[in-house]
Amino acid sequence: MTIDSTSAGQGARIADLLKSFLPQAIIGSFVDGRMIEGTGETLELTDPSSGQVFASYRDAGAPVVDEAMSAAEAARAEWMAMTASDRGRAMFAVARRLREHAAEIAELECRSAGRPIRDVRGEAGRVADMFDYYGGWCDKLHGEVIPVPSSHMNYTRREPLGVVVQITPWNAPLFTAGWQIAPAIAAGNGVVIKPSELTPLSTIVLAVLCEAAGIPKGLVNVVAGAGLTSGRAAVRHRKTALVVFVGSEAAGSAIAADAALNVTPCILELGGKSGNIVFDDAELDRAVMGAQAAIFGAAGQSCVAGSRLLVQRSLHKRFLEKYAHAAARIAVGSPMDESTHVGPINNRRQWQKIDELVQGSRAEGGTIVAGGCRPQHLEATGGFYYAPTIVDGVSPDARIATSEVFGPVVTVIPFDDEDEAVALANSTPYGLAGAVWTSDVGRAHRVAAGVRAGTFWINSYKTINVMSPFGGFGRSGYGRSSGQEALMAYTQTKSVWVETARQPSFAFGYGGPS
Ligand code: NAD
Repeated sequence: MTIDSTSAGQGARIADLLKSFLPQAIIGSFVDGRMIEGTGETLELTDPSSGQVFASYRDAGAPVVDEAMSAAEAARAEWMAMTASDRGRAMFAVARRLREHAAEIAELECRSAGRPIRDVRGEAGRVADMFDYYGGWCDKLHGEVIPVPSSHMNYTRREPLGVVVQITPWNAPLFTAGWQIAPAIAAGNGVVIKPSELTPLSTIVLAVLCEAAGIPKGLVNVVAGAGLTSGRAAVRHRKTALVVFVGSEAAGSAIAADAALNVTPCILELGGKSGNIVFDDAELDRAVMGAQAAIFGAAGQSCVAGSRLLVQRSLHKRFLEKYAHAAARIAVGSPMDESTHVGPINNRRQWQKIDELVQGSRAEGGTIVAGGCRPQHLEATGGFYYAPTIVDGVSPDARIATSEVFGPVVTVIPFDDEDEAVALANSTPYGLAGAVWTSDVGRAHRVAAGVRAGTFWINSYKTINVMSPFGGFGRSGYGRSSGQEALMAYTQTKSVWVETARQPSFAFGYGGPS
């Protein structure tokens, strides 16, 4: 990887930050404890706050993927030769390293992925919590004895799957890497992770810290490259025991088809179009604040974003006034600026997709009551900024109301009663998340039960934690990340039968011993 450290932009500072983690020259993927150069096309990293390219590197390609798979396989034997408690202790050591380097990691994530510094300041700590949580599981992961109705003892072993491939998107690169790597290695697997080609740096740093903390060299490998080349080679590799994919529905579906060629199982964490339901008995100011966090946090680049605001008709006008007023006052600006709440969109292509959907909503009868453009004061920066945007007046089946925008854009849809609210929430094929705001406790639980979604909040939005399972219903994917369920998903069960009777309870073969 070549970082343009001579530029007046991000390059120089990013090169400096990386020096604290990577003594070697930076040239691409992190495989078997060293940086190695890719074999494919040259890819570029762009600073979202200026639109300027600050680094380039060569796509890993199939040979590097192959090397990473072999390294993970070999390191796994070493990892499993350690006691379970020592594996846990090594994971706690990773958590300590992450906390020690929290400030540099936050700055790296902020500068390279364009995420506001106030959002990422705690990110290394959150990832450290993941290593602590799953580190604690290492010596508590065991099978059970089943009281079968014969003279046998039957017990189960929870065994690792082998080498798992993880493919992640650009919106929260470090968080997503930790979310997947920690349960995978706690369960005894080796990892080959392919972060988004747009944001590989913090994932590489995490893998470097794992090794520095005592995780065997080669257990966690990062393949830096594009989806259709490096990602695809990893998914189709004959050593891949599981594919965990976090990203768009289209790529997830293609990946599941590729994985099926080798009968490799998948966990898919895909997109959403989550309904955030506000009843007229909700505490209004809180609901307005929650509805802002739901969609404008992370500039809407969040899989669980509350991108459809379903508001009771009697409250519609009043809510919209307050919501639009609040949206116009949100601080959009440079991610390094402490006062920034909403930073840039990660990349140009995504900015264009957002704008195309927003402008297209006018033809669908939509009124843009806030935003709908690049904020004027940021025009000169060249950054991919988009103003917090509220679209009202479209029908629930309009394109803007049904497509995942993945930007700071919310569509407001009024409803009359509880049944209609639930029906609207369930009217897309997705099922990732949802929320309800109401002071009627019975209704809150009825709605939580009625909405088809993997995560649901009552009078809240967006809280997730490594201890709690996370995943989608419907087209938002299948399988669960985080919590105990993720740990189980990274294992397979073996059933062992032991004959304990003096005389076997049944004859072997066709005759007894002569
Ligand atoms: P994307 O699907 O384009 O890419 C995600 C990753 O998959 C990247 O690393 C990419 O290189 C790789 N990839 C793409 N096609 C591939 C293929 N055929 N084979 C192997 N790898 C391939 O998504 P994105 O644009 O990076 O991220 C945005 C999407 O991610 C949104 O849809 C969002 O909802 C989703 N997302 C979901 C979750 C979740 O947990 N459910 C979390 C974050 C983001």
